[in-house]
Amino acid sequence: MASSPERCGPTSPEELQRQLQELMRQHIPGHRPGFAAAEPAGGQPDESSEARKRALSFDHKPRDVKAYLDRFVIQQVEAKKVLSVALCDHYHHVRLAAEGKEQPNYTKQNIILLGPTGVGKTYLIRSIADLIGVPFVKADATKFSETGYVGGDVEDLVRDLIRRADGEVERAQYGIIYIDEIDKIAASNQNAGRDVSGRGVQTNLLKLMEETEVSVRAPHDLAGQIQAMMEMTQGRGRKQPPTINTKHILFVVSGAFDGLEKIVRKRLRESTIGFAAAAQAPADESRALDLAQTRDFIDFGFEPEFIGRLPIRVVCQPLEVDDLFQILKSSEGSIIRQYEQSFGAYGIEVLFHDDGLRRIAERASEEKTGARGLMTVCERAFRDLKFELPSTQVKRFVVDAQLVNQPSERLQELLAEQRKEEQVMLTQVVHEFGRRFEESHGLKLVFEAAAADRLVALALEQGQTVRDLCAERFKDFQFGLKLIAQNTGQREFVIDPEVVEAPDKFLSAWVVASYRSERNEPPSPD
Ligand code: ADP
Repeated sequence: MASSPERCGPTSPEELQRQLQELMRQHIPGHRPGFAAAEPAGGQPDESSEARKRALSFDHKPRDVKAYLDRFVIQQVEAKKVLSVALCDHYHHVRLAAEGKEQPNYTKQNIILLGPTGVGKTYLIRSIADLIGVPFVKADATKFSETGYVGGDVEDLVRDLIRRADGEVERAQYGIIYIDEIDKIAASNQNAGRDVSGRGVQTNLLKLMEETEVSVRAPHDLAGQIQAMMEMTQGRGRKQPPTINTKHILFVVSGAFDGLEKIVRKRLRESTIGFAAAAQAPADESRALDLAQTRDFIDFGFEPEFIGRLPIRVVCQPLEVDDLFQILKSSEGSIIRQYEQSFGAYGIEVLFHDDGLRRIAERASEEKTGARGLMTVCERAFRDLKFELPSTQVKRFVVDAQLVNQPSERLQELLAEQRKEEQVMLTQVVHEFGRRFEESHGLKLVFEAAAADRLVALALEQGQTVRDLCAERFKDFQFGLKLIAQNTGQREFVIDPEVVEAPDKFLSAWVVASYRSERNEPPSPD
């Protein structure tokens, strides 16, 4: 959720409006509403608007929705089924209501999602919102209780929905509000230690989940208040500030619900006592959450009315190493696609091998944060590579188990391999220089391997190209060697590392020697 603006003391909106009006009259003579604050189309639904059509042309079937979710969300098969049905029911109902064929006494399909962190609860709902094209807002329930501000806070969620719908109130009315950590506002939750406000927040949320009108402008939203004031100053347009109706907004609440399993198990145990009906006990004790009933949620600390407004209950299962591996390998939202893309931006190709993905999955599983662990592990594994590689000539690398285990060592190897490759290429430039020299002058320069290496090293040291360095070092060789050739007939000259260090000295010595050898004297550079 977008951060809540600061509360502005006890001043009432009307008083604030009056003060602002006075202030502007004093300081801005003939002021006009000239700023572009978002003007929601509240209260005046535009029947022909594209947004409305999009929200209300819902014609999906549960199987289509599940098939769409399968592309992104791994496992959670039961959750996908239940959610697909609930979401289809909800939006078919919304469409019928818009067509004036609303069923009376329809119960809205608000949803409670149970399961540990990072297993896809939010991802499921966000993906569905994307598919349907409705705005989606997420917030933590703890935020509301922390402020201790009763009434306005939860309504900010609805206003956020308008923002997500680009100011289109009509579309926001069919949006989805997702509230995480709902278990933290259970009245008997020992960890939260804020029974009173927890209950208060439940009551406020309950109003929203049923049906209420929320002002599209928050009392603490200064810009909104100024705009309202200006409209009033003009004395035209709306008399009433616009509102948004929450009747068709879908609410999804979620949490890990630690401790609920215990309550369920206790109930199940107690219900079997006296009946000797051990068969009623769950086959799989760890699946107790699947068997949670309204009574268990009330024992957990929820108001009966509140939990009663959440008829759809879905349990998301913890993710195993294999699931995490599949998330990396097959989910369209896999984080490895993100890495491929960000390295690709620098022209670097990454190839993920299965053993690398499995190692990431294993490490992520140790984090105990579900699929979120994948991000943590990848961040750690790729941190240095992401920093260093874009500034090097490394253009490809493979992600295998070794890279995941020892990313720094692998980086050093990649850099060393790159240096070696570079060296080989640059020594080829040295030999190419020799070949062209022969072409131009008919004299052969034979570079010893050590000499070529030394030339490459010197070029790198001096920040010169190898070609320029060679041209500079051997610039007088064509003349000197020609003389020697004339004197002795020698046409091939070996360049060793010593010649590289002092080319002119050697050339002079060779030339002198060539005159001597004309007279049969032995050559000497000294
Ligand atoms: P939570 O269950 O706490 O709401 P999220 O749905 O926000 O967790 O998961 C965090 C991220 O982890 C998602 O954005 C998604 O990238 C990934 N993820 C989690 N569960 C799954 C899953 N079952 N399949 C694919 N990706 C998943």
